[in-house]
Amino acid sequence: MANQVNTVRGQVSADQLGKTMIHEHFQFGYPGFHGDITLGRYDRQEALRVGLEVAERLKAHGVQSVVDPTPNECGRDPLLLKEISEMSGLNIICATGYYYEGESATAYWKFRALLGDAESEIYEMYMKEITEGIGDTGIRAGVIKLASSKDVITDYEKMFFRAAARAQRDTGVTIVTHTQEGTMGPEQAELLISHGADPNRIVIGHMCGNTDVAYHLRTLDTGVSIGFDRFGLQGLAGTPLDRMRETVLIGLIGMGYADRILLSHDTVNCWLGRALAIPEPLLPTVVDWHPTHIFENVIPTLREAGISEETIHKILVDNPQRVFGA
Ligand SMILES: [Zn+2]
Repeated sequence: MANQVNTVRGQVSADQLGKTMIHEHFQFGYPGFHGDITLGRYDRQEALRVGLEVAERLKAHGVQSVVDPTPNECGRDPLLLKEISEMSGLNIICATGYYYEGESATAYWKFRALLGDAESEIYEMYMKEITEGIGDTGIRAGVIKLASSKDVITDYEKMFFRAAARAQRDTGVTIVTHTQEGTMGPEQAELLISHGADPNRIVIGHMCGNTDVAYHLRTLDTGVSIGFDRFGLQGLAGTPLDRMRETVLIGLIGMGYADRILLSHDTVNCWLGRALAIPEPLLPTVVDWHPTHIFENVIPTLREAGISEETIHKILVDNPQRVFGA
């Protein structure tokens, strides 16, 4: 029997998830946005409206499920996700976890680590949120979100990785990660696996931030799956161009890795805090950064490269279902 996956509306059998986006944020805020509420007032109705619009656009391309790996301290709101899910029919899987040290709300756990065993406390948080629910919502996290820094997994971040491996051993929960600027993919995989995590339930994220084939092969050799999950984000925050990503992706598919690659955009559909104005010169870096870019532009490129419908189906449907235990 297929594994049961926690979605914000309850459990869904992994083999029923269908076409799945592994990494999209319905809303996201950099820690600190809470302090700017006077000018960055939260408009929940607007977040809901945008979320429903995104859900409809995704459904028009046959998407049935979305993983929203927003970290706990970056504006995760399971009740909003549940409302979007109930109104749209889209399955949404939310996360438990914290962001990488440079962009995380570190003070809380650093203080607790001074006074006691923060790693065990993080494990307890994961377990409670996976098995019972987030806060008093009764909504259970369906993935653990992990993240590391550029060129290093810091001691702060390692607490979360070790606790996640332990929670994964206990629950079988899927782990989805953030790598920074195309670094530490193999190291993340090795750290988790060395602490007993199951590579079949690990997706090393933002791997498309690195166009070095050797880096991808080193990561894939550990048995994990990898996310080409920032399509459309080109040149901003250390990201490569899509045609570079596509070149590596087509190469890896050609080398027989089609069963361990997942696609997504890492879009942020609603920024928390004050409205963002992207400066004119940066517009080309985000013009394709929207939730249906893969279907409109990337999949056609794969087809032109001779990649079969069967393989495309495998990447969009079978691979996500498998990392959730189908
Ligand atoms: Zn993300």
